Amino acid sequence: MLHSKIMTIRNLTDTLEQLAPLSLQEKYDNAGLLVGEPLTPVRGALICLDVTERVIDEAISLGCNLIIAHHPLIFTGLKRLTAQNEVQRCVVKAIRNDIAIYAAHTNLDNIEQGVNGKIAEKLGLIDCKVLSPVSDALVKLVTYVPKLMVHKVREALFSTGAGTIGNYDSCSYNSEGYGSFRAGEKAHPFVGLKNSIHYEPEVKVEVILPKFRLAAVLNALVEAHPYEEPAYDVIPLLNQWAQTGAGFVGNLPAELPLNDFLHSIKEVFQIPTIRYTSPVKDNIRRVAVCGGSGSFLIKDALQAQADVFITADVKYHEFMEADGRIVIVDAGHYETEQYTKELMYEIISKKFPTFALHISKVTTNPILYL
Ligand SMILES: [Zn+2]
Repeated sequence: MLHSKIMTIRNLTDTLEQLAPLSLQEKYDNAGLLVGEPLTPVRGALICLDVTERVIDEAISLGCNLIIAHHPLIFTGLKRLTAQNEVQRCVVKAIRNDIAIYAAHTNLDNIEQGVNGKIAEKLGLIDCKVLSPVSDALVKLVTYVPKLMVHKVREALFSTGAGTIGNYDSCSYNSEGYGSFRAGEKAHPFVGLKNSIHYEPEVKVEVILPKFRLAAVLNALVEAHPYEEPAYDVIPLLNQWAQTGAGFVGNLPAELPLNDFLHSIKEVFQIPTIRYTSPVKDNIRRVAVCGGSGSFLIKDALQAQADVFITADVKYHEFMEADGRIVIVDAGHYETEQYTKELMYEIISKKFPTFALHISKVTTNPILYL
């Protein structure tokens, strides 16, 4: 495929990270570029859930030098590369064949249009929201700007990602007052005279922003602010970030008999058998989901008053937590996450429609059913 401009691994992974920044991954995770160098030109990319030797073979035969996976191939420490297990063999094989490996994992789980947003779309859920929003991820920035320059500074903050709350952008609170300062001998004051106290009409601008955008927003602030020493405060917030976090909960467009819904789960996730807890009521409407291992969200699903919670890797005692109040459904780890491939394909091809992007045809699910 011909391109007017060389595309690098970073160009491609930036597209994913603009939506699912690596800083949103869980602490235990290892998402990001795992093998390869960010500035290497990409000829083609292969999207999969898990990197296996067969997936690497597939990449080789398709002429792809980048594999984009959901699960990180290297998850815990890797102390040797002696081909003793599949992870080690994959790393060696990837390096020998000049194939880079990248993973978008819990950072893609934790966004609205991520893994669980896709599952909700497949199940036809409406009025969805994040089941367990993160806290400690937002900060407030307060800055003081001379009245005549406030428009320019505010715009600079908005354009780097400050002031966005849900479906609203350009959110700020502005109050007028005045600032005082005395410029020293070596200063270059924007207004006022050296060695004399100056009082300037200013606007106090307050905006909320994700912590991971702070460095970029502060750069933009310093760039746009006319003062030599712009004053600002960064305040950590205890607020939850409603749009970011684990799991999703929403409603079916209309009530459905539980039995019909259980059958449609099998169809949607193409799984021959599901495990579930005792029916609580005949008709259900509110559904919580978490692709992959989501047992840690059972209490959140109960709190969100979901009738059904669909996830995977549920253990015996975790099923007990249903407690006659919710139907917990285990619909398989691979099965519930399979649409993540489609999701990543859509995100990248929207930005680079002509790029050689493939979805792996290898089924990497290690589990069989009888
Ligand atoms: Zn998973």
